[in-house]
Amino acid sequence: MKESTTVVIGGGIIGLSIAWRLAKEGQSVTVIERGEVGQEASRVAAGMLAASAEVGYEEFELYALCRESLRQWPNFARELESDSGINVDYRSHGTLIVADDRDAAVALKRGFDFQKENNYPVEWLTREETLELEPFLSPRIVASVLASEDHAIDNRMVIMGLREAVKRRGGTILEKTTVESVDLTGTEVAVQMQGRSDLVADRIVLAAGAWSRQIAGIPSDLVPPVRPVKGQILELKMEAPFELNHVIRGRKAYLVPRTDGRLIVGATSEEMGFDKRMTAGGVYSILEGAWEMVPGIHDLELLSIEVGLRPGSRDHQPIVGYCRDRRVYIATGHYRHGVILSAITAIESAKSILSGNDSPILSYFSPKRFGHLDVK
Ligand SMILES: Cc1cc2nc3c(=O)[nH]c(=O)nc-3n(C[C@H](O)[C@H](O)[C@H](O)COP(=O)(O)OP(=O)(O)OC[C@H]3O[C@@H](n4cnc5c(N)ncnc54)[C@H](O)[C@@H]3O)c2cc1C
Repeated sequence: MKESTTVVIGGGIIGLSIAWRLAKEGQSVTVIERGEVGQEASRVAAGMLAASAEVGYEEFELYALCRESLRQWPNFARELESDSGINVDYRSHGTLIVADDRDAAVALKRGFDFQKENNYPVEWLTREETLELEPFLSPRIVASVLASEDHAIDNRMVIMGLREAVKRRGGTILEKTTVESVDLTGTEVAVQMQGRSDLVADRIVLAAGAWSRQIAGIPSDLVPPVRPVKGQILELKMEAPFELNHVIRGRKAYLVPRTDGRLIVGATSEEMGFDKRMTAGGVYSILEGAWEMVPGIHDLELLSIEVGLRPGSRDHQPIVGYCRDRRVYIATGHYRHGVILSAITAIESAKSILSGNDSPILSYFSPKRFGHLDVK
């Protein structure tokens, strides 16, 4: 029997992780990436695996999916480390959501009651308990919620690991190769690239992040409704005596420590199209928000400022699953949650592609919820 072949368009964390899971199952898979893998949103992300800290009064299915993905992450990370030989810095210190004035504490308490009602693993901490855990927090902190199961990873190491693991498992990665169009008129899919001859495959996985609308040849009713949502983010260098262990989240910023001493501080959320400029206002607002929670960052060295474009869908939820034409599998629209959701997206998408069936876990996020996508 002829081997089934998959071409993944886009080598971000989503495309690569699906490719890895397929290659691990012995499938023939090729990832095509316009630049180098993982250098767009997936590089810039903070790496928070935040299921409890982010849950809100809406988008409940999304946070249930985040929670399921978070449950998969420890194994996913271990398997990736063993397949690639690369440590992804999985950190299980937990997340502190802090309130730095009375109004913020009232809002935090309302959120906490909601989290508790829905069985999220969270704990209310007083000011003293909070400062005992993280002495570098501002003494103005009023209270906090500890989400002990909200972990973090170093997404750049995950990208390196995925790149290596795909190759070790026999997958192919073509970098510096732009997919211009696809031709769906034959029985197989012809993938047309700039400066190369066509690749023919049984199916494509469209995982081109914020650029997923730009591939020609995809019928307009199958084009996923995604747009870029700009995020600016900074990297500081922690130096003794300064120390943070938990991820810290407040109303205006978050801080994510890495084991190698970097401290990721983010992030803006801006509707600016494909604009990737760093701005004084963006950097100022992130630093102000972070400094109000952790004044000690004032003297830390600023290592870098980066900009990423989150793939935001029309309803801010991922778009994952088969289209009307089942040779087109979409995996995009992960918006602020692509790192945490990469585990469940990859595991369930690979199962779905192997079996030809839709994933019940991902059914809520199917492309078919957008009427015009007309998926059977
Ligand atoms: C500032 C910031 C902080 C974030 N923090 C977090 C966080 O803490 N936790 C979390 O879960 N998520 C976070 N996110 C969200 C997360 O980064 C994204 O949801 C995720 O990276 C999306 O991955 P992706 O693979 O879909 O997209 P991308 O990483 O953007 O990858 C898409 C790839 O497709 C390639 N491509 C595009 N067009 C073509 C083409 N025609 N041919 C070939 N290749 C093409 C691009 O070059 C790119 O490499 C954050 C995002 C930002 C910007």
